[in-house]
Amino acid sequence: MIPFLDLKKVNTQYQQELKDACSRVIDSGWYLNGNELNAFESEFSQYCQTNYCAGVANGLDALSLTLRAWKELGQLSDGDEVIVQANTYIASILAITENNLVPVLVEPDEKTFNLDASNIEKAITSKTKVILPVHLYGQISPMKEILEISKKHKLLVLEDCAQAHGAELDSKKAGSWGDAAAFSFYPGKNLGALGDAGAVITNDNELFKTIKALGNYGTSERYVHQFKGVNSRMDEIQAAMLRVKLKHLNSEIKARQKVAKSYLEGINNSLIGLPQVGDLKNHVWHLFVIKIKNREKLVNFLAKNGIQTLVHYPTPPHKQEAYEEYNNMQLPVTERIHEQVLSLPISPVLTDKDLAYIIDTVNSFK
Ligand SMILES: *Cc1c(COP(=O)(O)O)cnc(C)c1O
Repeated sequence: MIPFLDLKKVNTQYQQELKDACSRVIDSGWYLNGNELNAFESEFSQYCQTNYCAGVANGLDALSLTLRAWKELGQLSDGDEVIVQANTYIASILAITENNLVPVLVEPDEKTFNLDASNIEKAITSKTKVILPVHLYGQISPMKEILEISKKHKLLVLEDCAQAHGAELDSKKAGSWGDAAAFSFYPGKNLGALGDAGAVITNDNELFKTIKALGNYGTSERYVHQFKGVNSRMDEIQAAMLRVKLKHLNSEIKARQKVAKSYLEGINNSLIGLPQVGDLKNHVWHLFVIKIKNREKLVNFLAKNGIQTLVHYPTPPHKQEAYEEYNNMQLPVTERIHEQVLSLPISPVLTDKDLAYIIDTVNSFK
């Protein structure tokens, strides 16, 4: 079986470096809020071309604490609206509702799966305060168009970069476009820890300090509590693992882009719709997502031939039981996407042989 993503193989590439980093933390006797986190925050903000990085416990917290911080800073209040594409992973929506804000679900661009800038202005009301573009599957959103709208209407922009570490538009990194950006380092993400971790990057020092405080019981000075904070910290072991993985991120992105290029050039089955990309650098290929009308049949055919696939995602947030209040919304583009998408194996460690076999098998599907 060709696995969808062989995480063990990904991390085994750096086994010695990871073990050395782990030993360094164990030997240091310091396990939270120490040198590894400081170093990772500085290395990652530099990588992303921003001034500040705040490590937190996971990607959902990165999104949620940013919105919370804007509330603490008086830039948002209960009931304000956040514009987001309806086809995102549920975490983007949970971060909004968790903060008593209102997600305004808009239809995405069916070709890129990202926010469709032409649908944003129609959705703006007097309550709109934030645009939340999700760089879905690894492709950066149309940030120039989005920033034009956000400037005109004085809106904040929070980029959900959980799938797009290192993606670029005009040599400017994902996460450096908006007022803030949230990252997840869930093990399966392009920059993955060996457990949970997340981060917010920004050029706004006040926002940075507020997020750091919120994630540490609302304190920036020991036993002085400015906010009713939470416990959301990136531990030293995960920071140390991520420092190792960050050094190899660019070469892993290149490896993913090479796999994607082979798929784009090699798959020529007329039943299958290939993902649409701008510049190759715009996309870091967290996922390679094709569209097919009779998905179940292709999934079974590939499985029978030893190829594991996944669906990202089978059900859109507005059709989930958790969001009953949105269940009756009609979002035909979003619903069509969820019915048709299928993710083929893509990873930096996929072999040329496996890749060629997957392409041949997909092309032989009738
Ligand atoms: C993975 C993911 C998240 C959440 O990250 P966690 O670290 O699992 O909390 C948020 N948004 C998107 C688009 C994601 O893919």
